[in-house]
Amino acid sequence: MPIDFAFTEEQNLLRDSVRAMLDRIATPAYIRRCDQEPRYPSELYDAYVEMGLLRMPFPESVGGLGGSVIDFVVIAEELGRKSYDFLGAYGTCVFNGLNILHNGTEAQRQHWLPRLLEGRIKMSISMTEPGAGSDAGAMRTSARRDGEHWVINGQKVFSTGAGAERNVINLYARSKPEGPHQEALSLFLVDKDTPGITLRKLDTLGRRSLGTYEVFFDDVRVPADRLVGEPHKGWGYMLSGLQLERLMTAAGYAGGAQAAVDLALAYAKERQQFGKPIGSFQAIAHMLADMQTAVDASRMLLWRAAWQLERGEDALMAISQAKLFGSETYANVANQGMQIMGGYGYIMEFDMQRHYRDARATTITAGTSQMQRNLIAGLMGLKTK
Ligand SMILES: Cc1cc2nc3c(=O)[nH]c(=O)nc-3n(C[C@H](O)[C@H](O)[C@H](O)COP(=O)(O)OP(=O)(O)OC[C@H]3O[C@@H](n4cnc5c(N)ncnc54)[C@H](O)[C@@H]3O)c2cc1C
Repeated sequence: MPIDFAFTEEQNLLRDSVRAMLDRIATPAYIRRCDQEPRYPSELYDAYVEMGLLRMPFPESVGGLGGSVIDFVVIAEELGRKSYDFLGAYGTCVFNGLNILHNGTEAQRQHWLPRLLEGRIKMSISMTEPGAGSDAGAMRTSARRDGEHWVINGQKVFSTGAGAERNVINLYARSKPEGPHQEALSLFLVDKDTPGITLRKLDTLGRRSLGTYEVFFDDVRVPADRLVGEPHKGWGYMLSGLQLERLMTAAGYAGGAQAAVDLALAYAKERQQFGKPIGSFQAIAHMLADMQTAVDASRMLLWRAAWQLERGEDALMAISQAKLFGSETYANVANQGMQIMGGYGYIMEFDMQRHYRDARATTITAGTSQMQRNLIAGLMGLKTK
């Protein structure tokens, strides 16, 4: 029997315990407070640490629990079901930590990973700059070696969660002034409170709880051992880390999209017009049938990608497809959910508008839909430049 869609008993247990923890802490009122004030979901993050969720995807040698990629996807979908930012708080720490595990020195693994897994620090990622978005290789932020230090100058933008307490920014910068970016970038671990750093929170439509920041670096000095792994190898580290980041985002989109469909479905069963529930009008019923079908299809793409990654296969195509389809599905079902809820979908008291706002970012972040299509088409042998 070559195909098996079932989770193991342990994975079912994991999903149920994550769901129970979320239902206890991430109540609808809590989610609204985090979005509207806006505020970082600290209570939830503490619960992740306490439950060992951060340890889950790491090997036992660094204090982890040795969980699989599928376990990670199970957790990510549950968190995304409540709020994409609740997943972002978790997932960004995990994929940056895994990058250190795979690319850092032994001393770096032993120093940083226990701190991360025990919740003593958090991690964010800074790649994007005002002049370097989809074209990440065009980044200009520079790192110059000065004795036992590196001196960093430049500006990043859209650094999500950079302002969180005890955050360590995973910063990609040019460590060689000249040469192709593939051989000129390095990855640095920089405490967000280091002198010379200024953070400015951006006012965004959605994803407001973690917040996304402009980060200015003005002669920021970091010790030489803050450079992860080897100098000038950052581009390769970045690309390898992006695979898990995109898988995580796809899992979060499936969770968010399912939550939007659940809200719309419950509303369609409840709301009466012309003496009947609106869900009994074929126009609405078919819309909901299409929405659930799209969500299930995005979940299938997600699971296949996770399964390939777990088996150590090249999962680039599958991950890009899962990210592309998952993001567009979340944005589409949130949009259709608004339509199903009529005027009530448009007011802040109902949660559909938050899905609509959060989902709108998904086709832009972690590589736009156009860039995913470029990548997929490239793997199909088409040149899209
Ligand atoms: C809420 C949010 C959170 C984010 N979090 C982070 C983070 O934590 N860390 C981080 O480093 N970055 C983060 N980003 C940045 C994000 O990754 C970038 O916004 C994204 O990569 C696109 O870059 P850009 O905004 O500069 O758009 P551009 O690259 O300028 O693109 C503009 C448009 O042109 C299209 N385009 C560009 N090049 C091509 C091409 N070759 N072919 C076809 N179309 C093309 C794009 O698809 C897009 O539609 C975040 C962004 C947002 C909105």
